[in-house]
Amino acid sequence: LPQEFEIARPIMQNIENAGFEAYFVGGSVRDTILGDEIHDVDIASSAYPAEIKRIFKHTVDTGIEHGTVMVLDHGNGYEITTFRTESGYQDYRRPDKVTFVRSLSEDLKRRDFTINALAMKENGQIIDLFNGLSDLNSKLIKAVGNPEERFNEDALRMMRAVRFASKLDFSIEAHTLEAISNHSELLSKIAVERINTEFVKMMLGQNPLKGISDMLKTHLVEYIPGFHDYLDSFANLLNFKDLNLQSEEQVWTLICFQFNLGEQQIKSFLKAWKTSNKLISNVLTMVKALKAIESQSLNNMIMYHTGEDLLRQTLKIAKCLSIDINEIKVIQNYAKLTVKHKKEIEIDGSQLMKLNLVKPGPMIGKVLSEIELNIVNGKLPNNKNSIIEYTKKLLKE
Ligand code: ATP
Ligand code: MG
Repeated sequence: LPQEFEIARPIMQNIENAGFEAYFVGGSVRDTILGDEIHDVDIASSAYPAEIKRIFKHTVDTGIEHGTVMVLDHGNGYEITTFRTESGYQDYRRPDKVTFVRSLSEDLKRRDFTINALAMKENGQIIDLFNGLSDLNSKLIKAVGNPEERFNEDALRMMRAVRFASKLDFSIEAHTLEAISNHSELLSKIAVERINTEFVKMMLGQNPLKGISDMLKTHLVEYIPGFHDYLDSFANLLNFKDLNLQSEEQVWTLICFQFNLGEQQIKSFLKAWKTSNKLISNVLTMVKALKAIESQSLNNMIMYHTGEDLLRQTLKIAKCLSIDINEIKVIQNYAKLTVKHKKEIEIDGSQLMKLNLVKPGPMIGKVLSEIELNIVNGKLPNNKNSIIEYTKKLLKE
């Protein structure tokens, strides 16, 4: 077993010695069987939160209302969640209220897909109540139980199906796919933030083309914010065989560029997706750079404003879109910039005032911008004397 499981075994054994059951569940079990890397190990137990807290000395209530307690051991934290059922789904959303139960099968039954409903004992034995192993083998995303009912309970699961299809490069099983097509409009009931998470994970998966085509085929794409008028542009992404993105900002940059959105449109589009202001600002910068790369008008000032990280990320997107650009050359040109940040400029506003060159007021900003532009473009050396001489000349004009 991977190290992440091995170190958790004593915790599981403690729970069992106290007379309860404990299993590894969810993504870590699935990914281990697939031979993929795992991130977090989830543990499910028949013990109620209060009982877990009696067994272990050091615990933190990380999600007590959902039945999750974190056990601290040798500097590691283990999230233990009590077996639970979810009932009383309203408005096609997952209920916040949960009922703790003692039976593993009840807990596995409420999970979304058969490959996500596997459990593993501390000794490595797999519990497979819904043929998850066979679906893993056949590379299928299949709802646990009746797919129509499951998507009625929680419409986000439809996006999760598409996300896992891309993430794992699996296919959505026929009945599950049909149920998504029949219920796609229920997605409009779901909080945008939750759709956002699944959509981004889909775009960052192994096979985003599969995810994109599933979203189109099932009409899910018509019920996510801002895509309705751009279905053809979205479908055109299928022409790019090598969509290989690494970050959230790359995903949104690609989408905004592909939809040909202007600055204001990008702002309201991303606001509708409830992204952070930081992300909006990065996407605006990257779209500008990408447009310049596409029209072969990338210059020093755009590279300077973009900065190395976002520039490298933008070049990767250009490559995905088969835009003809010499990536190495661009990075070399960036490296040659005399200044990379405002703070590297040898003079600032307060110094200009102290030297009595400029009076306090809006003029300072204008002068500084001119100085910056000329230094970045290599027309003015970045040293105090040159800048002072330049400023004197500028203000005489
Ligand atoms: P990842 O590797 O992306 O974290 P994961 O399978 O761990 O994949 P999570 O979103 O972390 O996915 O959820 C953990 C587990 O909880 C899932 O494997 C699944 O069993 C269950 N689950 C999560 N969301 C839902 C849902 N909306 N409906 C039913 N079960 C869910
Ligand atoms: Mg997970």
